[in-house]
Amino acid sequence: MKINFVFFMLLMGSLWTCNSPKSSKDDHHTQHQSNTDETKSSNSESSSKSTSTEISTGDCIYCGMPVVEFPKWQTSILTDKEKMEFCSPRCLFIEYLEQKDKLQDTKVLVTDYYDLEKIDGRTAFFVIKSDVLGPMGHDLVPFKTKADAENFQNDHQGQKILAFQEVTMEIIQELVNQ
Ligand SMILES: [Zn+2]
Repeated sequence: MKINFVFFMLLMGSLWTCNSPKSSKDDHHTQHQSNTDETKSSNSESSSKSTSTEISTGDCIYCGMPVVEFPKWQTSILTDKEKMEFCSPRCLFIEYLEQKDKLQDTKVLVTDYYDLEKIDGRTAFFVIKSDVLGPMGHDLVPFKTKADAENFQNDHQGQKILAFQEVTMEIIQELVNQ
Protein backbone atom coordinates (compact mmCIF):
# COMPACT_ATOMS: atom_id res chain seq x y z
CA MET A 1 0.00 0.00 0.00
CA LYS A 2 2.78 2.41 0.94
CA ILE A 3 4.78 1.51 -2.13
CA ASN A 4 1.74 2.12 -4.30
CA PHE A 5 1.29 5.55 -2.74
CA VAL A 6 4.92 6.50 -3.32
CA PHE A 7 4.68 5.24 -6.86
CA PHE A 8 1.53 7.27 -7.36
CA MET A 9 3.24 10.41 -6.08
CA LEU A 10 6.23 9.78 -8.32
CA LEU A 11 3.94 9.25 -11.27
CA MET A 12 2.04 12.45 -10.58
CA GLY A 13 5.30 14.28 -10.06
CA SER A 14 6.73 13.06 -13.31
CA LEU A 15 3.54 13.89 -15.18
CA TRP A 16 3.59 17.39 -13.73
CA THR A 17 7.23 18.05 -14.50
CA CYS A 18 6.75 16.49 -17.88
CA ASN A 19 3.79 18.66 -18.76
CA SER A 20 4.90 22.07 -17.63
CA PRO A 21 8.19 22.44 -19.48
CA LYS A 22 6.57 20.94 -22.54
CA SER A 23 3.82 23.53 -22.66
CA SER A 24 6.19 26.43 -22.14
CA LYS A 25 8.36 25.00 -24.88
CA ASP A 26 5.31 24.92 -27.15
CA ASP A 27 4.49 28.52 -26.34
CA HIS A 28 7.98 29.53 -27.13
CA HIS A 29 7.87 27.62 -30.36
CA THR A 30 4.57 29.18 -31.46
CA GLN A 31 5.83 32.62 -30.60
CA HIS A 32 9.00 32.04 -32.53
CA GLN A 33 7.05 30.81 -35.52
CA SER A 34 4.73 33.82 -35.62
CA ASN A 35 7.74 36.12 -35.37
CA THR A 36 9.24 34.41 -38.38
CA ASP A 37 5.96 34.72 -40.29
CA GLU A 38 5.81 38.40 -39.51
CA THR A 39 9.32 38.93 -40.78
CA LYS A 40 8.52 36.93 -43.88
CA SER A 41 5.36 38.85 -44.75
CA SER A 42 6.94 42.24 -44.20
CA ASN A 43 9.85 41.16 -46.37
CA SER A 44 7.62 40.08 -49.23
CA GLU A 45 5.64 43.28 -48.84
CA SER A 46 8.68 45.46 -49.17
CA SER A 47 9.98 43.48 -52.15
CA SER A 48 6.64 43.79 -53.99
CA LYS A 49 6.72 47.50 -53.18
CA SER A 50 9.95 48.00 -55.04
CA THR A 51 9.12 45.83 -58.05
CA SER A 52 5.54 46.83 -58.93
CA THR A 53 4.50 50.25 -60.12
CA GLU A 54 0.80 49.24 -59.92
CA ILE A 55 0.80 48.92 -56.12
CA SER A 56 0.54 52.25 -54.39
CA THR A 57 3.18 52.78 -51.75
CA GLY A 58 3.12 56.41 -50.76
CA ASP A 59 1.03 58.51 -48.43
CA CYS A 60 -2.16 60.29 -49.43
CA ILE A 61 -1.14 63.71 -50.73
CA TYR A 62 -4.10 65.34 -49.07
CA CYS A 63 -4.41 63.67 -45.64
CA GLY A 64 -1.09 61.84 -45.23
CA MET A 65 -2.49 58.37 -44.53
CA PRO A 66 -0.58 55.42 -46.11
CA VAL A 67 -2.39 54.64 -49.36
CA VAL A 68 -1.45 50.93 -49.21
CA GLU A 69 -3.76 50.47 -46.22
CA PHE A 70 -6.82 51.24 -48.32
CA PRO A 71 -6.68 48.95 -51.37
CA LYS A 72 -10.45 49.26 -51.83
CA TRP A 73 -10.39 53.05 -51.95
CA GLN A 74 -7.05 54.22 -53.32
CA THR A 75 -7.09 56.68 -56.21
CA SER A 76 -4.50 58.57 -58.19
CA ILE A 77 -3.94 61.44 -60.59
CA LEU A 78 -1.29 60.86 -63.25
CA THR A 79 0.39 64.00 -64.54
CA ASP A 80 3.25 64.16 -67.05
CA LYS A 81 5.72 64.28 -64.20
CA GLU A 82 4.26 62.36 -61.28
CA LYS A 83 1.71 59.98 -59.83
CA MET A 84 -0.29 61.76 -57.14
CA GLU A 85 -1.70 59.17 -54.78
CA PHE A 86 -4.72 59.42 -52.51
CA CYS A 87 -6.33 57.18 -49.89
CA SER A 88 -9.82 57.74 -51.27
CA PRO A 89 -11.93 59.45 -53.96
CA ARG A 90 -12.80 62.12 -51.39
CA CYS A 91 -9.17 63.19 -50.88
CA LEU A 92 -8.56 63.05 -54.63
CA PHE A 93 -11.52 65.31 -55.41
CA ILE A 94 -10.47 67.91 -52.82
CA GLU A 95 -7.01 68.15 -54.40
CA TYR A 96 -8.39 67.98 -57.95
CA LEU A 97 -11.03 70.66 -57.45
CA GLU A 98 -8.53 72.97 -55.73
CA GLN A 99 -6.17 72.73 -58.69
CA LYS A 100 -8.66 72.12 -61.47
CA ASP A 101 -6.96 74.37 -64.04
CA LYS A 102 -3.63 72.67 -63.54
CA LEU A 103 -4.99 69.11 -63.43
CA GLN A 104 -7.72 69.15 -66.07
CA ASP A 105 -5.72 67.19 -68.67
CA THR A 106 -4.46 64.52 -66.30
CA LYS A 107 -5.46 60.88 -66.09
CA VAL A 108 -7.56 60.03 -63.04
CA LEU A 109 -7.70 56.47 -61.67
CA VAL A 110 -10.16 55.24 -59.05
CA THR A 111 -10.90 51.77 -57.65
CA ASP A 112 -14.17 50.09 -58.65
CA TYR A 113 -15.87 49.22 -55.36
CA TYR A 114 -17.15 45.84 -56.55
CA ASP A 115 -14.24 44.28 -58.45
CA LEU A 116 -11.36 46.48 -57.12
CA GLU A 117 -10.22 47.18 -60.67
CA LYS A 118 -8.47 50.49 -61.34
CA ILE A 119 -10.81 52.37 -63.65
CA ASP A 120 -10.90 55.73 -65.41
CA GLY A 121 -12.20 58.18 -62.82
CA ARG A 122 -13.43 60.60 -65.46
CA THR A 123 -15.97 58.10 -66.82
CA ALA A 124 -16.79 56.44 -63.48
CA PHE A 125 -20.09 56.71 -61.58
CA PHE A 126 -19.90 57.85 -57.95
CA VAL A 127 -22.51 57.02 -55.33
CA ILE A 128 -22.73 59.50 -52.46
CA LYS A 129 -24.28 59.47 -48.99
CA SER A 130 -24.64 55.70 -48.76
CA ASP A 131 -24.16 53.66 -45.58
CA VAL A 132 -20.65 52.59 -46.68
CA LEU A 133 -17.85 54.71 -45.23
CA GLY A 134 -14.41 55.26 -46.75
CA PRO A 135 -11.08 55.83 -44.95
CA MET A 136 -12.06 59.42 -44.10
CA GLY A 137 -15.77 58.87 -43.39
CA HIS A 138 -18.45 59.63 -45.98
CA ASP A 139 -16.99 59.21 -49.43
CA LEU A 140 -17.81 58.88 -53.12
CA VAL A 141 -18.05 55.19 -54.02
CA PRO A 142 -16.80 54.59 -57.60
CA PHE A 143 -18.18 52.14 -60.19
CA LYS A 144 -17.27 51.43 -63.80
CA THR A 145 -20.90 50.99 -64.91
CA LYS A 146 -24.07 52.84 -64.06
CA ALA A 147 -25.82 49.50 -63.47
CA ASP A 148 -23.35 48.62 -60.71
CA ALA A 149 -23.73 52.09 -59.21
CA GLU A 150 -27.54 51.64 -59.21
CA ASN A 151 -27.27 48.21 -57.57
CA PHE A 152 -25.03 49.66 -54.89
CA GLN A 153 -27.32 52.64 -54.43
CA ASN A 154 -30.27 50.31 -53.81
CA ASP A 155 -28.34 48.01 -51.46
CA HIS A 156 -26.73 50.78 -49.41
CA GLN A 157 -29.26 53.63 -49.30
CA GLY A 158 -27.15 55.79 -51.60
CA GLN A 159 -28.69 59.20 -52.13
CA LYS A 160 -27.33 60.08 -55.56
CA ILE A 161 -25.17 58.89 -58.47
CA LEU A 162 -22.78 61.50 -59.85
CA ALA A 163 -20.55 61.70 -62.91
CA PHE A 164 -16.98 62.97 -62.40
CA GLN A 165 -17.84 66.43 -63.76
CA GLU A 166 -20.81 66.76 -61.42
CA VAL A 167 -18.71 66.56 -58.25
CA THR A 168 -18.22 70.01 -56.74
CA MET A 169 -16.47 71.33 -53.64
CA GLU A 170 -19.91 71.96 -52.09
CA ILE A 171 -20.74 68.25 -52.40
CA ILE A 172 -17.39 67.27 -50.88
CA GLN A 173 -18.00 69.72 -48.05
CA GLU A 174 -21.37 68.07 -47.34
CA LEU A 175 -19.69 64.66 -47.15
CA VAL A 176 -17.00 66.00 -44.84
CA ASN A 177 -19.59 67.56 -42.54
CA GLN A 178 -21.95 64.59 -42.55
ZN1 LIG B 1 -6.49 60.84 -47.87
